[in-house]
Amino acid sequence: EFSVRRWLIEEKLIKKIIKPVAADTHKGRQGFTLVAGGSRAYSGAPLLSARGCLASGVGGVYLAVPEELFEPLAGKVPEIILRGIPAAAGQLAAEGFFMLSELLSKVKAAVIGPGMGELTGSKEAYLNFLESCPLPLVIDADGLNNLVGYLEVLKRRTAPTVLTPHLGEMARLLGLSVNEVKVKGEEISKEFTKEYNVYLVLKSETTLIAAPTGEVWYLAGGNPLLAKAGSGDVLSGLIAGFLTQGYGPEEAAILGVYFHGRAGELALKERAVNSFFISDIFSYLNEVFREVG
Ligand code: AMP
Ligand code: MG
Repeated sequence: EFSVRRWLIEEKLIKKIIKPVAADTHKGRQGFTLVAGGSRAYSGAPLLSARGCLASGVGGVYLAVPEELFEPLAGKVPEIILRGIPAAAGQLAAEGFFMLSELLSKVKAAVIGPGMGELTGSKEAYLNFLESCPLPLVIDADGLNNLVGYLEVLKRRTAPTVLTPHLGEMARLLGLSVNEVKVKGEEISKEFTKEYNVYLVLKSETTLIAAPTGEVWYLAGGNPLLAKAGSGDVLSGLIAGFLTQGYGPEEAAILGVYFHGRAGELALKERAVNSFFISDIFSYLNEVFREVG
């Protein structure tokens, strides 16, 4: 292998990947996505992920949260189809994961994890869900933390998997220090994607995407405006949204990372870092679509 298969994510590449939405499309063809997560402690994260997903161009989103979050979240975003799922101690319960499996028949891809919490009574059901989910799946946030020690499950998945850890989550997954992950990010990511047959989005100020083929993409960045709670949740929703629309896992990861980063870049031209709310990123995502669409 002589070629260095390492690329920069730039507008040129995005314009090659992205397909226009057909004038005669319909919501079924755009596809629906399942976003699953949330807990008593974290109710906003799954909502932001669902909004990220909606902002990618899907036909619709099912947002599945522990049943006690149903009322507080209902109507917050009218486009979202909200489902309350059996819970215990404010977290998705084992029975809840079986209901998620049923919802999968309505969607083309899913994201699991944002705000889910560290599962206590339902970890096995969660791992089972990951293994048996026959659709492209994005695993984010606590979805990753709950995988610590059980990575083997990923090898048994039959559909593409995209993991979206930040440096801290990646360090926990591998039992390394954050600094090791930071310094040896590319090497570690390449090994990881090959071993577990997954696509990896290793998030930081310079996000790296790695595919099992050994290819690596970078988004050159450094934008403090994105360094706020909720930022990664929007990203995982975007990626799942692109998977839903039929993009392959590496295309979906590249598109999601670019749209998220570019929206932040546009926001930075107009907004102060300190008082920026992650919720405000959606209007800038709209501008990015206008740039490349
Ligand atoms: P999370 O920590 O899961 O909320 O994810 C944070 C998101 O914001 C990831 O997509 C990061 O790449 C991005 N991000 C965080 N800090 C920065 C930064 N300083 N420069 C550019 N992107 C950032
Ligand atoms: Mg996160």
